[in-house]
Amino acid sequence: MVRTNWAGNIAFEARGVHRPTDVDQVRELVARSERVRALGSGHSFNRIADTTGEQISLAELPPRVQIDADASCVTVAGGLRYGDFADRLHAAGFALPTLGSLPHISVAGAVATGTHGSGVGNRSLAASVSGLEVVTADGELLEIRRGHPDFAGMVVGLGGFGVVTALTLDLVPTFELAQYVYDRLPAEDFAEHAQEILAAGYSVSVFTTWRADQLDQVWVKGPRTPDVPGPRWFGATRADAPRHPVPGMDARHCTTQLGESGPWQHRLPHFRMDFTPSTGRELQSEYFVPRTDVVAAYRALDTIRDRMAPLVQTCEIRTIAAEPLWLSPAAERDSAAFHFTWIDDTPAVLALLPVMEELLSPFATRPHWGKLFTCDAATVRARYDRYADFERLLGRYDPAGKFTNEFLDRYFTRS
Ligand SMILES: Cc1cc2nc3c(=O)[nH]c(=O)nc-3n(C[C@H](O)[C@H](O)[C@H](O)COP(=O)(O)OP(=O)(O)OC[C@H]3O[C@@H](n4cnc5c(N)ncnc54)[C@H](O)[C@@H]3O)c2cc1C
Repeated sequence: MVRTNWAGNIAFEARGVHRPTDVDQVRELVARSERVRALGSGHSFNRIADTTGEQISLAELPPRVQIDADASCVTVAGGLRYGDFADRLHAAGFALPTLGSLPHISVAGAVATGTHGSGVGNRSLAASVSGLEVVTADGELLEIRRGHPDFAGMVVGLGGFGVVTALTLDLVPTFELAQYVYDRLPAEDFAEHAQEILAAGYSVSVFTTWRADQLDQVWVKGPRTPDVPGPRWFGATRADAPRHPVPGMDARHCTTQLGESGPWQHRLPHFRMDFTPSTGRELQSEYFVPRTDVVAAYRALDTIRDRMAPLVQTCEIRTIAAEPLWLSPAAERDSAAFHFTWIDDTPAVLALLPVMEELLSPFATRPHWGKLFTCDAATVRARYDRYADFERLLGRYDPAGKFTNEFLDRYFTRS
């Protein structure tokens, strides 16, 4: 039977998938394999999780969730999804500072590609990681913590260093947010006030379908204070009914809006854990630019609005604060990311991406590692200061290329 990723656009070539039930089994599997790779929840849109050998899913490892209240951190099994333990953190008085748009994604897989939410003060989900437990190529269990010279290279590790069986995440005190949606922000208002708009809440997402000279929705997630924008805001109007980011989709799948306060884990994601996330029939791409270039990048893309619009279900502009992780697309620069949820027409999307990448190239664009992009290795390499260091680290931890795959071989030379 053909196994695919979540979106169904990638048929895995891997010979099979192992589902170990304890870490010792992971160690044995890795030690005896020539080619092997961790598979998370399969939410990536390219071949990053594939291998010519066998995949290892950690979904059946014991669901370890160890909260250390004194140290404000939690250690979780790598195969857990954020939605599996977020309520427990909240009940214990803790929170993660940021989450992606849906809670169904595995922690280890999200961290491996630099997955992020939004907020000018929020870094990626990987930035919360303070420790990793990794089964490396020889089958040994390596524990590595923040402060080790290799750590910042290994966190956003693209699955290249081994199988991450557990991660320790920094926690903050739990908090509440309320979510407001604003409709129809005129493009000229966005262009003039983009930095203010993107900083208008704890987490802000701006959505457009590129079908009109407007940004269709702005989602502002913030504490319910008098500072929340009023019902009219830069030419946009506060919505009086719940919205879905994709026009025409049922808003019941989305987290609670209309300003009703609730705990962080039920407001930061756009989609609810108990519903099929997003649209289900889609492809995705995402490009990161320096936050200061967000309007210039928007204008560059706007020149091909007519070509994008027929393929776009929705496009989301988010912000990510700079972080020190070598291969994070937000490495060392405050970023804005242009995310695209496409219709599931692979040939048409792959034909358009090079045009978009060319238009965005003046902004030293970095693509999301887990989504579709077509930039070549030289282009991506030029956009990261620590690329060569990452390659050296890959060569040192996995000299025989046990964890490599076609995707890693295309972008990295192990030295
Ligand atoms: C509907 C939808 C919404 C999304 N929303 C967002 C969003 O809001 N923000 C964002 O940034 N991205 C988003 N993404 C992209 C997604 O977060 C990334 O592609 C992420 O890497 C997927 O994680 P996964 O667990 O499914 O990993 P997979 O796709 O299974 O694997 C991704 C990579 O992680 C590695 N990996 C997985 N598990 C381990 C492990 N235990 N040890 C070592 N390496 C491992 C794999 O080998 C592979 O290299 C979204 C994707 C979908 C489908």
